Amino acid sequence: MASTAPVIMRIMASSIQTAKLAGGIIRDVLKQGDLGIVDKGKNDPQTEADRSAQRCIIASLTKKFPGVKIIGEEGGSDLNVCDDWLVEDLDEEFLQKSCPAEWRDAKPEDFVIWVDPLDGTAEYTQGYVEHVTVLIGIAVKDAAVGGIIHQPFYQQPDGELGRTIWGLKGLGTGGFTHSLAPPGEFIITTTRSHSNALHQQALNAFPATKILKVGGAGFKVLQLLEGKAHAYVFATPGCKKWDTCAPEAVLEAQGGFLTDINGKNYSYNADVEHVNRQGVLASVGENHSELVYKIPRKVREAVGV
Ligand code: AMP
Ligand code: MG
Ligand code: MG
Repeated sequence: MASTAPVIMRIMASSIQTAKLAGGIIRDVLKQGDLGIVDKGKNDPQTEADRSAQRCIIASLTKKFPGVKIIGEEGGSDLNVCDDWLVEDLDEEFLQKSCPAEWRDAKPEDFVIWVDPLDGTAEYTQGYVEHVTVLIGIAVKDAAVGGIIHQPFYQQPDGELGRTIWGLKGLGTGGFTHSLAPPGEFIITTTRSHSNALHQQALNAFPATKILKVGGAGFKVLQLLEGKAHAYVFATPGCKKWDTCAPEAVLEAQGGFLTDINGKNYSYNADVEHVNRQGVLASVGENHSELVYKIPRKVREAVGV
């Protein structure tokens, strides 16, 4: 079965297993205590967990899918990793599913895999570990099509740590229970560390009953998927393609939208600019275009200029 399944199904099934191992590496680095923090820019830290998780993911996926372009947040990584970090197996349960017809014939050269080995690094260093996710996004040509969002520190009812959420457009989602946010309220989820005056003006445009300030693009989209918020608003440049590819695919596989603040989807081919210059607006169960038009046009036009 494994060798005959369409490429997209094998990439998804391999990414599910790889994200789980990367999550274990992220927990181990925290347990061992020396985070090895390096500043990549203002409010943009990198730790040993980001570096090691990326090496594990890129080495594993490169070995399994040598013809596929993979772009990771932490740049070029040493792919000479120990065998313990090389994920060979595929998630069998996922592989049993039927491949949507639209992706069945996609070839290795049609794919770009966008990897954020640890989304929410600032929160990881500050002890907000529930905000941390591992993001593996799968683009076919321009579009975000499949995604894995793994939460290494999610506590399962039996005490086990970690859960893995997946989504594939045309197939659906798995690994969590979808709920819609409460009617009669309007809850926004947004950044806790990358705000500015323009972003604040965009937030002010909504009649929010509550604003949740949390870390990471992955965690904010999980809040939408689990009905804890109605909209994710981020009206500044700063998020990158590896932050949004997996969340966009999972959210859209659930019937939601993740776009720039003008309502346009980003492109995820290998040549695009990494920064999402026009910010992020995401929702599920809402009229997404109405949300776009709530933000004054002059605010939308000023973002990213
Ligand atoms: P946040 O919503 O602030 O947690 O950001 C979501 C993702 O985008 C995280 O991976 C951040 O590191 C990244 N990000 C957002 N804004 C910036 C920025 N101004 N500089 C660097 N990274 C950013
Ligand atoms: Mg990130
Ligand atoms: Mg990251």
